[in-house]
Amino acid sequence: MANFRTHLTVAAAGALSATALVMQAGVISHMQALLLFLLALHAGLLPDIDSDHSIPARILFTILSVATAVAVIFLCYTALSLLPLLALSLLAALFVRLLLLPLFAATTEHRGLFHSLPMALLFGMATLFSGHHLLGWAAAFAWLAAAFVAGGYLLHLLLDELYSVNFLGASIKASFGSALTLFSSQSWRSYLFLYGAVIYGLWMAPLPQQFM
Ligand SMILES: [Zn+2]
Repeated sequence: MANFRTHLTVAAAGALSATALVMQAGVISHMQALLLFLLALHAGLLPDIDSDHSIPARILFTILSVATAVAVIFLCYTALSLLPLLALSLLAALFVRLLLLPLFAATTEHRGLFHSLPMALLFGMATLFSGHHLLGWAAAFAWLAAAFVAGGYLLHLLLDELYSVNFLGASIKASFGSALTLFSSQSWRSYLFLYGAVIYGLWMAPLPQQFM
């Protein structure tokens, strides 16, 4: 499998070319272009959050624990005085870092569900819905952002697959086929659920109309 640095380089190159291509069409602003680039770049690193000690997993859970601490402060600052407030936010952050992270690590298998086609599509869907409904993006831009996320994610899976082919000896390593999984009969329930969620998402999705 490809390492973090390779993934970062390929994700950045892919995100940059795709963003440049869309900018050529002249339908997005500079801020939107920057946002698309960052989305694709992050999506290109995202699948490896399932490998327990990977850099993406550590970064994600650090961000999550900081975000939790900030959320606690915002929610409770009227009800608590300073010291209990700080103590509570620290506790919440530690809860995420020390309890949720090991739990997530224990329940996800590296190159399991997170390295699969339906998961890439699902992250795209999640971007579409949160962008359109929570952040108020125009439907067309939300679709574009979803395509950038799914595309960056798929690029990561493709790269993992490429790395499982030994080009010099033209042989194929045992890991071949484990990165871009379409379906697995062992965890068919999970796959059925993922595909179902994607299809439901497509059905409910807003139609792309105008960009601005
Ligand atoms: Zn990977």
